[in-house]
Order: sequence, then structure tokens, then C-alpha cells
Amino acid sequence: MKTAVVTVGKELLTGRTVNTNLRTIALKLKQIGIDINRSYVIDDLKKEFKKILDFMDEDLVIFTGGLGPTVDDITRETVIDYFGLDTFIDQEVLDKIKYYFDRAEVEMKDTNNKQALFPKDSIRLGNNLGTAPGVYFKVGKRRIILLPGPPHELYPLLDEVIEIIKDELDINLISRGFKLVGTGESSMENNLKGFYGVHAKVNVAPYANVGEIKYIFTSADTDALDRAMNDFYNKFKEFIYGGLEDTLEGVVVELLREQNKVISVVESCTGGLLASKIVNVSGSSNVFKEALVTYANEAKIKYLDIKEETLAKYGAVSAECAVEMCDNLFKKTDADLTLSITGIAGPNGGTEDKPVGLAFIGINYMGKTTVYRKVFNGNREMIRLRATIFALNLARKALKGTKESNDKK
Ligand code: AMP
Ligand code: MG
Repeated sequence: MKTAVVTVGKELLTGRTVNTNLRTIALKLKQIGIDINRSYVIDDLKKEFKKILDFMDEDLVIFTGGLGPTVDDITRETVIDYFGLDTFIDQEVLDKIKYYFDRAEVEMKDTNNKQALFPKDSIRLGNNLGTAPGVYFKVGKRRIILLPGPPHELYPLLDEVIEIIKDELDINLISRGFKLVGTGESSMENNLKGFYGVHAKVNVAPYANVGEIKYIFTSADTDALDRAMNDFYNKFKEFIYGGLEDTLEGVVVELLREQNKVISVVESCTGGLLASKIVNVSGSSNVFKEALVTYANEAKIKYLDIKEETLAKYGAVSAECAVEMCDNLFKKTDADLTLSITGIAGPNGGTEDKPVGLAFIGINYMGKTTVYRKVFNGNREMIRLRATIFALNLARKALKGTKESNDKK
């Protein structure tokens, strides 16, 4: 099926927003065997829509962006208008939008009404996260899909679209996958040489994120899918922490819960990000009681009795400090596992000896301490996230080690 994706928005043309939606849509469609023939990026202007719609001849056309309530968001009415379709206002959607505003204690504007406009005989793609529902409709044999621009609103709607297309075109593909941590896309791809050839009936797509990566396997042949996934699992089991629905922090909390253990953490450069990840997991209160953010040296001394001598001799960003942080926290809290992070998130503060991205991550598990030196790449936010993920993975590996040795007994 000839397919086009049109991403809409001036911010994409000025470079202010990176066009990640195109990639997301392309990867998702690929999973059901659909390749994109062409992609267009256009400004939020009526004449641009007309030009592109006059020109396009694809059977499947997906638009993203411009479904919001503001005056510059014109995708919905412009596309519907172009095809001269009969429309109606969906009361249920209108009520939902109103409810969304009421909950946020914000007054709903009239311009939000247009978000409830639908062509007759269209499929409404529900949007629980924002206020802009997507639309799926047919014009003759062509399928036209309008999706919101904000990536977190796009994902769930895109999943709905994929299900509809699979149903309509009778595509019986199954998709499953793994999430990995502690490895990168290029090193994975190197190790996957030969894999793709052996498992030709399976489409394998990597999605790299900061600090982690997921691999999605898709095939119509369940046996081929199982074989590919088994093979992949055996090759990369040290990095695999779960399936597509899992989160790293969720896995750590679950391991702690299973083993009746408690974790506490102390952070410097990550400033609470690690604690916040843990608290994101519902039920974490059973395994997580306390955390410290000791950002300044004085705080490290005041709350954790870090030796002034350690700070003077090695500095706060040092293996010695990371060890003292997690050891002293271990003594002070009743935890079975403590993690410490101290590092330089940048962009300033780096030296030749201690570059930006340098972090020391300590783990004390059941009284035994290990410390790791890492230099993480990326901007401040990415460095903090990578350090957090690294620490969580240390906890996961330690707990998994215990679980595996218990299972063997
Ligand atoms: P819109 O639906 O046009 O109101 O888009 C709202 C926001 O979604 C934009 O400001 C962007 O931050 C984001 N966004 C829109 N289109 C894309 C895209 N193609 N890729 C990534 N983000 C996007
Ligand atoms: Mg826009």
C-alpha cells in the first residue's frame, strides 16, 4: 500500500522541534509490513495543505500535528474541508474535553470545540492524555488519518491505528519484544550481524532511548518469532531486563518485593531523579523508605558523615566519596541495598581529570560495596538520566544474582 506521512508544524521547519513522529510512525508501520513511500513536512498553512493534497496519490496518508485548539492548528478542519466531507460535532468528545479542562481547573475556550469535529463515518481515535482526539476516515479507497503532534499523545493513538489497519487489511502479524539496558545500539547491531539473515521471516526493529534500547520482533509465523526471540535472548540475556511493558525501576521494585528487601538511595548530581523513578512504581512504598539528596559538600557531611578528609583529598566526585555515601547510608538506614551517585552533569565544572559526564556510582548490597566509574555522554539531562539508569541496573543485577542463586537451591 502506497503510504505517505505528512508532519505538520512550523516548529519542524525551523528546527525547533526534531521530527521524531516521522520515525515513530515509520517504525510502527514497518512492524506490520508497511513501508512509507514519501514524507512531507509542511507549515500550518491552508495553501500548503491544498498543494500537498492535490499532489499526493498515496492510498494511506497519515498527518500528525495541528490538532490542538489554537488558531494555528488547522489540520482537522482543513483536511476535512478539502475532501468536502459532511461533519458533525461529537458530544461525547466535547464533554470529555470539558472534563479535562475542569479537572485542571482551567476554563475551556470556544476554540476547543473544533477538536470535537468529525467527518461522518469516521473512526474516532480516543485521546485520554490531551484534548485532541485523532480521526480515521476513508475517501473512496484512500485511508486518511489525523494524529496529534505531541509524541506522548501520538503513541497510544498510533497503536489504535495499527490495530485498525491490521484488522481491515487482515494482517496477522504478532509483535513482541525485549527491553535492554547496559548496551548501545551500535554495539548491538555489531553483535547482530548474521542474526537477521538466519531469522529472515521476522522483522527486528531497534528503538534506542537514552540509556536503554528496545527490540521489537514482528512476524506472521509464531514459531519463527519464538525462535528469533529465544536466539536473541540467549545472546543478550545479561542486558535484557524485561518485555515491552516493563520499566527498569518496575523490575527493580518487583525483585525487591519478591525478596522482601528494602532499598535506599543517596544522590548528588542526579538530584532526586533516582528516588523519583523508584517512586513512579506503584507499590514502591513496600520496598523504599527513604532517600537523600546531598548536593553540596556540607550536606554530605551533615547528613552522611562523609569525612572532610575524603572530600579534601579526593573531591566529592570520586570513588572514595561514592563508597562512603552508600556505606554510611547503609549504616544509617535499615536497607538491604543502597545506591549512591556522585558526578558532574555539566555543562560546566569539568576538568581534564574529571570531565563532564564523569560519575561514580556505588552499590552496597547486603553489606558488600562496589563502586563504578563511568563517563556518560550527552547533555546535562541525559547524563543525569544515564547515571540513574546505570544505578538502577546495578540494583537489578545484584538482586537478580540472589534470585538466580536462590532458584538453583
Ligand atoms: P500540535 O499538535 O501541532 O499542536 O503539536 C504540539 C507539539 O507537539 C509541538 O510543539 C511539538 O513539540 C510536538 N510535535 C509536533 N509535531 C511533532 C513531530 N513531527 N515530531 C515531534 N514532535 C512533534
Ligand atoms: Mg502545531
